[in-house]
Parts: sequence; C-alpha cells; structure tokens
Amino acid sequence: MAVAWLEDVRSTDLGTVGGKAASLGELTGAGLPVPPGFVVTAGTYRTFIEDAGIDEELFSAVDVDSEDSDALEAAHERAHELIVETEVPEHVREEIVEAYRSMGDGETFVAVRSSATAEDLPDASFAGQQETFLNVTEDDLVDRVQECWASLFSQRAIYYRNQKGFPHDEVDIAVVVQTMVDAEKSGVMFTSHPSTGDPRIIIEAAWGLGEAVVAGAVSPDNYVVDRTTGEIETMTVATKKVMHVKDDETGETVEREVPEDKRDQQVLTQAEIDRLIELGKKVEEHYGEPQDVEWAVAGGEVYMLQSRPITTIDDGASSTAEGGESDDDTDDHLLSGLGASPGTAAGAVRVVTKLDHLDQVSEGDVIVTEMTMPDMVPAMKRAAAIVTDEGGMTSHAAIISRELGVPAVVGCGGATRTLENGQMVTVDGEMGTVRNGTLATDAPAVEPGSNDDGPVGTRPKPVTATEVKVNVSIPEAASRAAQTGADGVGLLRIEHLVLSLGKTPERYIADEGSEAYVKELMDGVRTVAEEFYPRPVRVRTLDAPTDEFRQLEGGEDEPNEHNPMLGYRGIRRSLDRPEVFEHELEAFKRLYEMGYDNLEIMFPLVTDGEDVAAAREHMASVGIDPTKRDWGVMIETPASAMGVEDIIDEGVDFVSFGTNDLTQYVLAVDRNNEHVSDRFDELHPQVLAIMGDTIDACRAAGVDTSICGQAGSHPEMVDFLVRKGITSISANIDAVADVLDEVSRVESRLILDSVR
Ligand code: PEP
Ligand code: MG
Repeated sequence: MAVAWLEDVRSTDLGTVGGKAASLGELTGAGLPVPPGFVVTAGTYRTFIEDAGIDEELFSAVDVDSEDSDALEAAHERAHELIVETEVPEHVREEIVEAYRSMGDGETFVAVRSSATAEDLPDASFAGQQETFLNVTEDDLVDRVQECWASLFSQRAIYYRNQKGFPHDEVDIAVVVQTMVDAEKSGVMFTSHPSTGDPRIIIEAAWGLGEAVVAGAVSPDNYVVDRTTGEIETMTVATKKVMHVKDDETGETVEREVPEDKRDQQVLTQAEIDRLIELGKKVEEHYGEPQDVEWAVAGGEVYMLQSRPITTIDDGASSTAEGGESDDDTDDHLLSGLGASPGTAAGAVRVVTKLDHLDQVSEGDVIVTEMTMPDMVPAMKRAAAIVTDEGGMTSHAAIISRELGVPAVVGCGGATRTLENGQMVTVDGEMGTVRNGTLATDAPAVEPGSNDDGPVGTRPKPVTATEVKVNVSIPEAASRAAQTGADGVGLLRIEHLVLSLGKTPERYIADEGSEAYVKELMDGVRTVAEEFYPRPVRVRTLDAPTDEFRQLEGGEDEPNEHNPMLGYRGIRRSLDRPEVFEHELEAFKRLYEMGYDNLEIMFPLVTDGEDVAAAREHMASVGIDPTKRDWGVMIETPASAMGVEDIIDEGVDFVSFGTNDLTQYVLAVDRNNEHVSDRFDELHPQVLAIMGDTIDACRAAGVDTSICGQAGSHPEMVDFLVRKGITSISANIDAVADVLDEVSRVESRLILDSVR
C-alpha cells in the first residue's frame, strides 16, 4: 500500500508516516475535528528511489562539503533532478489518485505537506525545511508529492543534516494529502500557558488562512482564557492588516489587505472561543501534556490542523547570567566607566595593545585595552571580563561583550595605564566599576569558555502582543541569542562580520575575489538564519564608518574624513559603490534560494525616498523581488523620520529606529565622544517626539515599526513605544527578558486602563 488513511494512523506509526502525519492521525483517532486525508508513506518514497535505482547516486550526490556553497547548490540541483524527473510507477500514481478521488467530487482542493521521518532523530529538528503546497488538485497532485520528496534535499536540509551529523540515507519522507480548509479565520492555541504551564488557554486569531499567523505576517487578536472557569481574562483586538487567502482564479495562496471594516474587528465569536476551549481541553487530556495547536474556522466549523507538545514551559527554575552583588568596599575602587555589559567577574588583568598577540589572553583573564577590535573576538570569548579606555554603550566592545555575555566596563579613561598585568581585579558590568582584588560574588557571571552557548536565563517568557526581538552582531552569539526565546532578530549587523575579514571589502574582493566575499557573508548570515528559523532575521546591509575601515588592510584607500559619523557610511557608501553593495545582496539572494525565507533585508542611514528607491532597485537587479520579500529601512536621520511618508511610498514593509544614530543627529551629540556623553539622551523629548510622529504615520499606512538601537533595551523607552503602538522591539541579548517583562506590564496596564 502506497498510502494510509489518517484515521488508521497513530503516533506509534511515527517511523513510517513522520511526525506531522502521526499527530494528525492521533487527533483523528481521538475524535477531534481534523480535515480528512491520507499519507503517502515514507516506505513509498524509499521504494520509489530504490526501485528506480537512483538511491545510490542520490546519496553520493549530496555527500559534499556543505561549507562549499557551489557544491551545496550542485548537490541540491542533482538530487532534485533525480527525484522529480524519475517517473512514479503507475500503480503508485493510481493509488494516490484513487485515494484523492475518494475524498470528494474529484475537484477537492488539498494541502500537500512533507512529513519527514528519521528513526531515533526528533522530527521537530526538520521543522520548516521541507515543502508544503496548498490548494492542489488532481492534475498536479503526484508532481507535488514528488516535489515534497525532493525537498528532503533542499540546500538548507542538506546543510542542516551535515552540521548535525544526521546521515542523509537515514532520513525518509512521507507526504500528507489533506482536504484544504478554506479558512475564514485561523490561528494558534496553547492549551496551557506556554511559559508557566498555568491552566490558561491562550488563543491567537486572525482572518484568512493560518500561514499569516504562523509566519508572523500579521499581529493577531489575543485571548487569554482561564481554563478552569472558561472566563476570558484578557482580550486584545489587534489591527490586522493582511490576510492569506486562496486566489479564486489561480488557486494559489495570496496575501491580501484585510477590508477596512474588518481590520479592527474581533475575529472570534464567543461560540467559537467556547468551542476552541472545549477542543483545547480535550486535546491536552488526550496527550496528557500541554499542546500547541493550529486551528481554522470554515463554514462555522472549528478544525484542528496540527498539535505539538509545548516545549517552552519552565519547570520553576529561575537563574540569570548576572553575577551577584559584590562587596561594596569603596577603598578597593580603581576605576569607573560605563557599565556596558552586565554581570560581575574577577580575574587577572591582561593589558592588550594593538600590537600584542591575543594568544596571551588566557581563559578567565580580564582584557584591558584601549578599544576592542574585530580580531579580538576569539580572545574576548575566553575572557572573564573586558575593560576599555574608550568607547560608549554602542561601541564595538560594548556590543560584542553583551552578545558574548562577558561583563564589560567601557570608557574608563586610563585603564591601560592604571592597571597592571597579573593584577587581580573585579569588574562590575552593571555599576561600571573596576575594583582591586577578587571580591565576593554570588556566582560567576559566565562560565569561562561557555560564553557562546550558556543559557541567558530561564525565566518564564510572558506572552506579548508587541514582539520582542534580539540584536545580533556576531554569528558566534546566535545560539545565545536564540535561547532568549526572542521572536526573531530585529537587527543582524554585518559590519562585524566584514571587519573580521581584516581587510576592507574592496581589498578583500581584489585579493580573494568577489565569490569569496559573497560566501563569507553567506556563511555568517546563514548561521544566524539557521539558528532562528523560522523566526525572522532582519539582516542589514553594510554600515561601518571610514575610521573603522581605516584600521584594516586596504584602509589607506579610505577617504579621510573629519567627521566620519556624518560621512561616507551606510546606504550612501553602498549606493556609491554598487558592485560591493550588490555582492551583499547576492549573498542574501542565494540564502533565499537555499530556503532561508525567514530573512528580511534592511537598509541603514537612508535620508529620503530617493535613497530607498535606489536601494530597492539594486535589490531587484540582483533578482530579489521586493514585492515578495520583507524589506525595510532604518530610521536614523531626522530627514528620514520627517519624510517617512515618502519612504512608505517606496513600498517598505517596515521601518526600524536606529536610536544610536537618530539621537546623535537630532541632538547634534557625537555618539562616540566621551566629552559630550552626558548629553547623549535617547529619551530627550525631541527624540521621542520625532519617533512618535513616525510611528503615527506608519500605523496610518499599515507599515510595521520597530526599534533596534540600544535604547530599545531601556524600560522608559519600552514604555513609551508600546503606548505609541510600535510593532516590535529589538533588545540586546541580556536585556530581552527584562524587555519582555516591561512590554507585558505596559500592555496589561493599557488593557486595564481601557476597561476602568
Ligand atoms: C542605531 O543607529 O541605533 C543602530 C542600531 O545602528 P548602529 O548602532 O549599527 O549604527
Ligand atoms: Mg545606526
């Protein structure tokens, strides 16, 4: 038998039908309302490749060095070709078509979904890697099944299995064929609170097909229900701008604007909420553990589309990466600066001058330097703490230390002169102090050597309507960043990646070739995109000032600028050097082709609509369709904020406040100049005013707003922005938990205020 009916499938069939189908079968068997369907079993796929004699060639074709992008692409192409160009045996084809016909009148629209299986390997690991096709009919049904089989060899999937050491020939694929539910509304439901496990049902609902909610394309309504009493505790009705629907002409799923009168309308009726609660209780009871359910409403019926255990519930442990309070003996005080990365740690001083060899930094040392450089990152990972003479909260040392979870104090003035090699000091990255000796700390800030994968904190994650994302600047921090549970990456800077090449982009391309440059970018960005998939990752094109490039090989060719902050950086440089710019865009395009559809593209330091249009044209000219991918710009210049309507007209999906720059340009305070650092105030009323007006204009036009500057980690800024209706806030890794709490607090306050 090539196929099995869902009602005959149980969770024990995981090995032959994959996780998705096993779960649907289990739900069907439990009497829950699942759209009818069948599974083309994993055995059918295996027999297909073996009987056709393509198995050996297939597995050897994908046995490549997946760090070699060309080899990876060729492997994918060959595997795809072998599978889709091999004829499916007639009896298999017939069985699939027969099963399909028996589901309705022969014209039923079905969803064709991959369901990967692997003995002893968790199915969840392959989430999102294989294809799904919606609104399929008989004509292309078998082709779509073959496409699903072939998607086992997408570039992403090959890369992933190689990284994790999963043998390609031990992974199989089943395909679920299920009646499409032409959903009028849909969403997700957590049968218990997803972080605390409390008996609260959380429902998110939006108009149209569920993809819009799952992919985060729309802010859904949110209902929190007491599971015991069935009472709605809180309800947030969001403005729902888009919906996914089936195009009647083509049968394809398309994104449409929600009609004006439905945008702010509550999605679910009380009867539908009651029905969902009933189903939620039943499904949790059936599995004996809290579930994360996808559901849809069609023709007045509620259907269950998928159910998975919730894996995010915390079992009560609560710890943070920060160290404890130190002894407050002021006699020991040596230096003060800006507390740039929280935590307290003690260690032996290692003064690093630019000429020094970084291998002198041992595990657990305190690095003391004028200013950190990109090539110091490996040593920074070994360090217990970092102290610099120069720099502010947005300097290299501050950004990288926070991402690595290493306590840091920056801008101390004469640290390199005051401190001596071997001297034991205690660095308090919260207070911004360096003290003599090893003072009492409750806990080490971070386990030395575990900086890139240590937990950031295991506090329960509140559910918020405003998304909370995280900033990432070095791929080494991707895993720590993902562990925060953030809703995605609000800013992935690529400057640190480029600066770590040791050469300016132009010199690197001249010496190593443009292909090598594109691959370096792909590798770095892919690490983050993979870690977060399917959560969105907003990657920004290059924005480093010439004084940073000057320190690199090739830096002598950089223009000599009196004021680099007002100079040749961001989109200005990119538009002036289109070849280099297009290599960046080419790297993003290839990542899209590999399946990283969670990437979004952001352009820095734009002035006006003209800049935005020019950037968009370059994107289109390398082959990235601006109407199909999410892209947007940073709002960092007063001109871009004041003229945001013109920018909106160019078709951006989002804007994101870069308050590090916006503040310096609104207040005319150089962000890197310690002489005026006391005047650098992101909460200045005029900075807030310009941001508030920008949010208003974007909300009116249905464009998402975000913040990815350092100020997004400050509670006062969070309070202001949530009240103004910002879509998302992107914070530093160490601040995500606090920002989530603050967002949740402000949102609850707003709801309370509205009912009082
Ligand atoms: C900003 O300006 O706030 C920002 C996030 O960009 P960068 O710090 O990289 O200039
Ligand atoms: Mg900036």
